[in-house]
Amino acid sequence: MSGPRFFNTLTKAKDALEAQPGFDRARVRMYVCGPTVYDFAHIGNARPVIVFDVLFRLLRHLYGPAHVVYVRNITDIDDKINARAAEIAAARNIDVEAARVEITQATARQYLEDVTALGCLPPTHTPRATDYVREMVAMIATLVADGFAYAADGHVLFEVARKADYGKLARRSLDEMLAGARVDVAPYKRNAMDFVLWKPSDDKTPGWDSPWGRGRPGWHIECSAMAAALLGETFDIHGGGIDLVFPHHENEIAQSEGAHHGYALARIWMHNGFLNVEGEKMSKSLGNFVTINELLKDWPGEVLRFNMLRTHYRQPMDWTVAGMNESWKTLEKWYAAAEPIADPRIGDAFLAALCDDLNTPQAIAELHKADARELAGGLGLLGFSNVQLRIAQKVALDTAWIADAIAARNAARKARDFKESDRLRDELLAKGIVLKDGPDGTTWEVKR
Ligand code: AMP
Ligand code: ZN
Repeated sequence: MSGPRFFNTLTKAKDALEAQPGFDRARVRMYVCGPTVYDFAHIGNARPVIVFDVLFRLLRHLYGPAHVVYVRNITDIDDKINARAAEIAAARNIDVEAARVEITQATARQYLEDVTALGCLPPTHTPRATDYVREMVAMIATLVADGFAYAADGHVLFEVARKADYGKLARRSLDEMLAGARVDVAPYKRNAMDFVLWKPSDDKTPGWDSPWGRGRPGWHIECSAMAAALLGETFDIHGGGIDLVFPHHENEIAQSEGAHHGYALARIWMHNGFLNVEGEKMSKSLGNFVTINELLKDWPGEVLRFNMLRTHYRQPMDWTVAGMNESWKTLEKWYAAAEPIADPRIGDAFLAALCDDLNTPQAIAELHKADARELAGGLGLLGFSNVQLRIAQKVALDTAWIADAIAARNAARKARDFKESDRLRDELLAKGIVLKDGPDGTTWEVKR
């Protein structure tokens, strides 16, 4: 096998990872833009997390877990966060900074819980932007000193005209960008496309000291500074959703290359396609905004994960209840066939599919063909074990049967036939169903 190839947004070709200049199989490095933490993550946000977790697992399999470094940041400085913090601060009469800390920590914790339930491994590092402000300030100072950026009116701006190849990732010229983008025209900008590296904070807004006064970093510089601190100037793979190509990733490239004497930020840029829900774009106003947290109340995490991976990561995806039901049925069938295996052998065709630009639909097709032994190993690489599937199987039990058993047990209890009612409770327990008797009757849940 010639090693994995991935579609590179920068070259518009499937590039061989191991053929990249400077590739070191002893230290394979990837960075994925993480969440802005002020609200529950939705199922669209779950797509890059799951996709790049499969990539992380594949790289660990190919090069060894100790040789892969994966960074996924937490954006905890942001104007949407500040707006939410200001509301909370006003309502509870507390400091805005205290509210910001509270909301970002609670949301980050929730996010970690949600994506763990989706079978995602913790990345090697999950840096918070607030812990890297010093590095951001230093990088901005370098950009100013080298003529890529200028200070004006308490702001520092990146001057796009100073970077000759600005637009190389998005493949747009400055004129096209100007025509297509909603740019903030501001009197302190030399060019409308110049973007903010640093902006001033008033007394009520979270801020940090800097050579340009008290302020806060722009979003793009956060990723450039955290990536440099944890992965070095150049690393192997940078990932995120397709919506981040422009301006976020274009600007990350401009800043990092500007501050690092032109050395490339990442060799391969990977972007997942967008996810719609039942054929429509997700939005709060349409009322079809589905959070991971809500979905996990109705579906096992591995069903969500499997459903996500049935579509190739670069394709647009339609998230439907019908698709989820199909995914669940497939997993149940496989579960019934698979034996837990301590040291699984991975099918070559399965691995080859993942090495071909993370072709999970093809890998899953191979699993349909594979024998139980290969199947178990393959599932490990896709991110769930058949131990987890066993739980899924329990949840998939016929709920009508459970309701009948509960009714029979209640009837036995009413007739004071406690031997029979205990027998029914134990029969349910043996199938992993725990009964709870409360004032409103008997409910059940799956034993964890
Ligand atoms: P955000 O918190 O909005 O910056 O998004 C976090 C990640 O989720 C980014 O990589 C986005 O590209 C990605 N993302 C957001 N919405 C969707 C969607 N509907 N489909 C796929 N990816 C998305
Ligand atoms: Zn980023």
